Amino acid sequence: MPTMMVAGNWKMNASIESSAALLEDLVAGATSLSENTQMVVFPPLPYLAQAQQMLQGTAIALGAQNASEHAKGAFTGETSAAMLHDFGVRYVLVGHSERRALYAETDAVVAAKFKAVQAAGMIPVLCIGETLQQRQQNETLLVVNAQLQAVIDAAGVESLGQAVVAYEPVWAIGTGLTASPEQAQEVHGAIRAHVASQAANVAANMQILYGGSVTAATANELFAQTDIDGGLVGGASLEAQSFLAIGQAAQG
Ligand code: PEP
Repeated sequence: MPTMMVAGNWKMNASIESSAALLEDLVAGATSLSENTQMVVFPPLPYLAQAQQMLQGTAIALGAQNASEHAKGAFTGETSAAMLHDFGVRYVLVGHSERRALYAETDAVVAAKFKAVQAAGMIPVLCIGETLQQRQQNETLLVVNAQLQAVIDAAGVESLGQAVVAYEPVWAIGTGLTASPEQAQEVHGAIRAHVASQAANVAANMQILYGGSVTAATANELFAQTDIDGGLVGGASLEAQSFLAIGQAAQG
């Protein structure tokens, strides 16, 4: 099993042409990466079939940016986890700060989505992180542990054995500001300790990604930290060379 993960969240950025070009370059470039690192891309929904086809037989896994907490029914505009699974999706982002802030997703909704993704046989990438104001008020660990505990309470601590956690300080997402390696390590260590206090074996094997304006220039130092097991990358994942360079940084 790869010990590092580099995941690219394209957000709402793609066209058929740009998606094809990016995937083509990523597939060509990823062959030089070792099996130590799992690369994952999260294209917008309409491009999943195209990505599934282009990633077939490659080492790059397919992810989706969101899933409904409901299995089926009258939920216009929503997509169930089972539907994503039909298109070869292996990872699904849940609780991304943009979903929490712009679409009012509460901890309860995030936990329900987490469970729906696992029930459909996929791996949730649970995003947690504090706002700038919460950091300034020294509430960072309180906030991330509460966000994590909401999922543990709903799904059980063992469920984290089939999940990935992404620590993403809200103030660092899309802003060009990155947490320093020390700031990130402090929170990653606390997240692992929080889980370890409930299930040491789960904590020891859990992948914790850092996200927030990661670039090829900052990835090396971040990934060298003990409790940082890769990155969740937004902006820098839209360009093949920068995303592959971040993948390279995960090789150590
Ligand atoms: C993200 O979307 O999860 C993210 C970390 O974005 P960016 O790298 O652009 O800050």
